[in-house]
Amino acid sequence: MVTEQIQNRGIHDERVLHALITVPRHLFIPPAYRDHAYDDGPLPIGQGQTISQPYIVALMSERLELGGDERVLEIGTGSGYQAAVLSLLAKQVYSIEIVPELMSSARELLGQLGYDNVTVLLGDGNLGWERDGPYDAIIVTAAAPHIPPALLEQLTEGGRLVLPVVRGEEQHLLRLRKQDGRIVEENLGLVRFVPLVGGDL
Ligand code: SAH
Repeated sequence: MVTEQIQNRGIHDERVLHALITVPRHLFIPPAYRDHAYDDGPLPIGQGQTISQPYIVALMSERLELGGDERVLEIGTGSGYQAAVLSLLAKQVYSIEIVPELMSSARELLGQLGYDNVTVLLGDGNLGWERDGPYDAIIVTAAAPHIPPALLEQLTEGGRLVLPVVRGEEQHLLRLRKQDGRIVEENLGLVRFVPLVGGDL
């Protein structure tokens, strides 16, 4: 999976590649789809949600530019897989999920597997999680109708926010960086995510 789907598509950060090799992706996939755990695509995880394609997990992780000392916030815990990957790349990970069933099962699994620097929270990620912020990096794993202002507020100076944003019929993966009090935006390309719900919708 890592050589063919990830390295060959241009992900070279050694720490990201190592995290993708280390985390047992099949344990985050429901038994019915487990044979496909290392396939090159997203898979259903119940409640109408999906675990992202391995390449997208790697791309987003790399673009967060993590060196190991960061506090990271994830919106959309889902299966907990992306949170497990982040836990190997940063110091502390907070992950918010809005569906109670997914929150509970991800919290239990991450605990069982010993990812002790991940805190799974129930809530609406549109609001971020102010209590434990600010964060050096924030990742949103569901497509947002607009950039939630709370997430920009909860970034440190120099902090990175990576998220898919809906623009017309398309979803664009964006990286926003807080730099000298301004926000610098980069477009990382087209993606396909389940929708971010909640907020003021
Ligand atoms: N990162 C996940 C993929 C999750 S799919 C993984 O590795 O498996 C997107 C997730 O975002 C779903 O679980 C969905 O319930 C959740 N979600 C959608 N809107 C949300 C919101 N406003 N706040 C928190 N989670 C949300």
